[in-house]
Amino acid sequence: MQPRDLSANAPYVPGRGIEEVARELGLDPSELIKLSSNENPHGSSPKAIEAVVTHAETNGLNVYPKASHTDLTAAIADKWGVTDEQVWLTPGADGAIDLLSRAMLEPGDRILEPEPGFSYYSMSAKYHHGTATSYTLSKESDFAQTNALVLDAYAGERIVYLTSPHNPTGKEFSRAAIVEIADAVDDDTLIVVDEAYGEYSERPSSIGLIDDDDHDNIAVLRTFSKAYGLAGLRIGYAVVPESWADAYARVNTPFAANELACRAALAALTDDEHVTQSVETAQWSREYMQSNLDAQTWDSAGNFILADVGDAKTVAAESQARGVIIRDCTSFGLPQCVRISCGTRSETHKAVETLNSILNEVAIH
Ligand SMILES: *Cc1c(COP(=O)(O)O)cnc(C)c1O
Repeated sequence: MQPRDLSANAPYVPGRGIEEVARELGLDPSELIKLSSNENPHGSSPKAIEAVVTHAETNGLNVYPKASHTDLTAAIADKWGVTDEQVWLTPGADGAIDLLSRAMLEPGDRILEPEPGFSYYSMSAKYHHGTATSYTLSKESDFAQTNALVLDAYAGERIVYLTSPHNPTGKEFSRAAIVEIADAVDDDTLIVVDEAYGEYSERPSSIGLIDDDDHDNIAVLRTFSKAYGLAGLRIGYAVVPESWADAYARVNTPFAANELACRAALAALTDDEHVTQSVETAQWSREYMQSNLDAQTWDSAGNFILADVGDAKTVAAESQARGVIIRDCTSFGLPQCVRISCGTRSETHKAVETLNSILNEVAIH
């Protein structure tokens, strides 16, 4: 007995965990700084933690989530001025990618995704019997994301992924470029704008484009994992056009967004102070890294910076050995680059100091 042929399905490679690295290096986890997974250095909103603890203690966890799912959906719909039906709650934005694959892809259908880019788009397409092709963001043009780049590569794919801000480069699409793409593609192509890092950007969300001028082919992904600091709970959502929003009920896994995640997200939505602090720290940190790292970097609208360090594998390993875990971007197809998440002020100072000393030593030898 064997599963179906999974040879085309590459496993997801996450940033390395702090316990894992600490054990390997024989260090205490508290001696390490983890800047490899774009997590929130300020932790979760205290209001979210309180909601989780209170709910678990008062109500227990023996009941399927219903009211919390309804309430969170309504709160998100209200925040963006869309109907409740248009909000598809999912376990992380990754869950939303799966539901859109389920809802859109017939066997053999193709998706178009950025290269380098977030690996889960094509993984999800393949799980759903589809295939993936890509448009290439090139280092020579500073990874610029333009409508021409996407449309030159476009050949009638069922889903086109636009990551804005883009992981791992931090680059964005202009609103005009997104509109041009949505206007130019075939009627049955869905444009998915992945705004996992939307809170860190100064541009308006593309949610405002959904159903605007008959754009019933734009969906937007958001998550509570990054700016809201709830990555461990797995909660995110898609906002989709009204005309096909009811597909959610036909493709959703029952109760996939769990009770504690919904409660925490509801509370986090009321904690403006935590989000503001998180965004301000990231803005400060990315500017500090850009100004002070002895390496080429690119403007980033996310909570991370991409840096060209020459030999990413060696530099990331050395940085880790000195207590700062960063992301080697070799698996993204960028063997010269590392991605450094924005930490707190002291974490950022330590990261820059550590990397600069490594880079200067490498340059001498
Ligand atoms: C982090 C991330 C996501 C989603 O993460 P979830 O934890 O599943 O919400 C989606 N897209 C990109 C580009 C990301 O970096």
